[in-house]
Amino acid sequence: MHSAANPIMPIPGLIDPVPVPRAVTPREDGRVDMLGLTRAQMKGALEEAGLDQKAAKLRSKQLFHWLYHRGETDFEKMTDLAKPMRLWMAERFIVGRPQVVEAQVSNDGTRKWLLRSDDGQDYEMVFIPDADRGTLCVSSQVGCTLNCSFCHTGTMRLVRNLTPGEIVGQVMLARDALGEWPKGSMASVNDDEADDEAQYTADGRMLTNIVMMGMGEPLYNFDHVRDALKLVMDGDGLALSKRRITLSTSGVVPMMARAAEEIGVNLAVSLHAVTKEVRDELVPLNRKYGIEELLQACADYPKANNARRITFEYVMIKDKNDSDADAHELVRLIRKYKLPAKVNLIPFNPWPGTDYECSSQERIRAFSTIVFEGGISAPVRTPRGRDIMAACGQLKSASEKKSKAEMKRLAEEKQAALG
Ligand code: SF4
Repeated sequence: MHSAANPIMPIPGLIDPVPVPRAVTPREDGRVDMLGLTRAQMKGALEEAGLDQKAAKLRSKQLFHWLYHRGETDFEKMTDLAKPMRLWMAERFIVGRPQVVEAQVSNDGTRKWLLRSDDGQDYEMVFIPDADRGTLCVSSQVGCTLNCSFCHTGTMRLVRNLTPGEIVGQVMLARDALGEWPKGSMASVNDDEADDEAQYTADGRMLTNIVMMGMGEPLYNFDHVRDALKLVMDGDGLALSKRRITLSTSGVVPMMARAAEEIGVNLAVSLHAVTKEVRDELVPLNRKYGIEELLQACADYPKANNARRITFEYVMIKDKNDSDADAHELVRLIRKYKLPAKVNLIPFNPWPGTDYECSSQERIRAFSTIVFEGGISAPVRTPRGRDIMAACGQLKSASEKKSKAEMKRLAEEKQAALG
C-alpha cells in the first residue's frame, strides 16, 4: 500500500509516543504552496523569489487577504495586483487545498470529507450543522498515537502530524464547499478607497464554530495547530473568534498551560472515566498524566472562568463508566477542583471490531440527572453522522481499515506491552 519512499512508520510506545514529523514533499513543478503560510512567511517566500523588501511587504499583505479572507486560489483573479505580478506569482507559487477523495452526507445533514495530502496521507473532517450553529470538526494528525480503546482513530497505524496548511486547509475547504467566502471588492486592504463594508460581513454563515476534535491529539502537534489556529483567528484572515474555537485534548498536561498562553481558545478534555483503573483502560495516556494531575491543570487553565467553562467529554459505555457511583465521583472531582465545567455525555458510537457497547438511554439519563443535581450542566449529545461513520470516535480513513484478525492481534500486542 505504501511505497518504499514512504514506509509505514511504527508508532513508538503506548503512552508517550512521538508523532512522525512530515517530510516535505516537493512539488514536481517546483512551485511553492502558500496555503498555511503566515504574513511573515509569505513575505520571506516573496523575497526569496526575488522581490525587494518593500514590495514583498505590500504583496504579502495583499496575498494574505486574498488567501485567508477571500478564499481565492487563482492569482489571475487577484485584481489589485498588476497583471505581470499575477503571472510572476503563478509561475512560482500555488494556493493549494487538500485533495478531496470522498465527500459523504449523512441522513441527518452531517457531512464528512476524506482528504488526501500531497504525499498520499488520508485524514478526515466533519461538518455538523445545527439549528443555531455549524461546527467543523478538524483533524490535527493522520491517525493518532494515543490508542484510546473506545476510539476507531486510535487503531490507525500510520501517524504523522498535519502541517499548518493541511489544518487551516480543512477550514478553507469547508468554506469553499459551503460557499461562504465574502464577496466584494478589495478596497478594504487598499487603504484610502472606500468600500461597502456590508459586502464583507457574511451574517448567517453556516460554519460558525471549530473544534479540534477530529483525528489526532492536537497538543502532540502543538506548533502546527497553534499556527493554523492563528490564521483562523486573524481578523484579516478567516476571522473566527477564539470563543468559537475549542481545542480538545486527552490530557497532555505539560502542554495545557502553553495552549492557554499561546492559543487561548476554549478547552475540552476527554475525561471519560473517574477512576484510575477505568481511565487507564479507556485513555492510556492516563498512565502518564493521572486524573488528579489533569484536573489540577484544568484548574490552572487561566482562560477558564464562568463565561468560558471547560468542557469534559465523557463517552457512555455500558457497564464500564456509567454507574451512579461514577456520576457521583465525577461531581465530587469537579467540585474538589472548583472547575467552571460542563460535561458532555456522548453515547458510545460503535465501530467494526470494538467490544464496547453504548449505555442504555435510561442509564445515560440517570447519569445525567445525578451530574445536573450536583450543579453541573451535563447534556447528552445526540449522535450525529453515525450512518457515515462520522460520529465521535468513529473517524478512520478508508485506506487504513484493518481486518478483525489484525485488530485482535493489535489488542493482544497492546495487552502484552502493558504487561
Ligand atoms: S480519542 Fe482522540 S486521542 Fe484518543 S485515540 Fe481517538 S483521536 Fe486519539
